[in-house]
Amino acid sequence: GKMARSTRAVSFYDSKEEAQLQRSVMVENRLREAIANNRLRMNYQPKFDLASGQVSGLEALVRWHDAELGEISPAEFIPIAENTDIIRDLTDWVLAAVCHQYSEWRQQGVAEGVTVAVNLSADDLLRPNFLQWLRALLDHTGMPASALILEITEGSLIDNVELAAEHIREAKALGLSVHIDDFGTGYSSLSQLHRLPLDALKVDRSFVHEIGTRSTGEMVTTAIISLAKSLRLSVVAEGIETEDQLAELRKLGCDSVQGFLLSRPLEAGLVASLLGQRL
Ligand code: C2E
Ligand code: MG
Ligand code: MG
Ligand code: MG
Repeated sequence: GKMARSTRAVSFYDSKEEAQLQRSVMVENRLREAIANNRLRMNYQPKFDLASGQVSGLEALVRWHDAELGEISPAEFIPIAENTDIIRDLTDWVLAAVCHQYSEWRQQGVAEGVTVAVNLSADDLLRPNFLQWLRALLDHTGMPASALILEITEGSLIDNVELAAEHIREAKALGLSVHIDDFGTGYSSLSQLHRLPLDALKVDRSFVHEIGTRSTGEMVTTAIISLAKSLRLSVVAEGIETEDQLAELRKLGCDSVQGFLLSRPLEAGLVASLLGQRL
């Protein structure tokens, strides 16, 4: 009867929730271990400058293959890391890996003029001493600050705009660049934007995906590009998958582009041979 059905529904719901919780506890524990044992790796996705057609930079994306769980997406484990203290160790690991990789590329003679963008989580930039630590890491590895871009999401700015602004200014003073990632998906106040010494806005791929569909996403893309221009910021578009999207972004005056159409994220070894390649 009615009773039995609702009881079943409740217990089904409970066991699904329980499975999710178990999975996230397992991911949390194994991720902690993976970082401690140096078992993460980095991939690098090229960004292309539309004017020159050349690779203008790379975005560093963390990868994790667990012996038992298999390949786990950052879309799953980054939020778990962010809900715990793990994110600090993860960010520090990523930055150290990137700086060491850059100095290797430099020794191979392929790093000239190349920038590497690292994704920061909302709290990273607000950590006291984070930028001093980063400065020391750059000195130690010989990576010039001008080659490193910090990608932060709008979410990092909303809780404490004043403090975020202060840390962004500090990062800029060190010679780093700062880009706002997934722009358009957050809630950053447009009126605050001009007060931040930013270098670029990155149009979220959900908008790029809608180019050519006469939908709101296409209008948002157009609006973000013109906003960036009026603020004198560069604009990067992510998630380009079709020639039509590429052509439209070129027409709109986008500065650089990134996406599966141009290149997937690559292992460090493959990047070395790609640097200098033309679009
Ligand atoms: P994101 O920073 O916006 O990075 C772009 C994501 O879109 C990457 O997914 C990339 O592989 C994917 N992508 C690139 N081009 C295309 C395309 O043409 N089509 C589609 N469908 N996807 C494309 P990934 O590597 O799975 O990373 C997901 C998110 O996880 C990143 O989004 C970023 O927010 C976060 N993340 C990745 N690596 C790190 C890291 O080292 N630290 C932190 N804090 N977050 C990271
Ligand atoms: Mg990013
Ligand atoms: Mg992005
Ligand atoms: Mg994104």
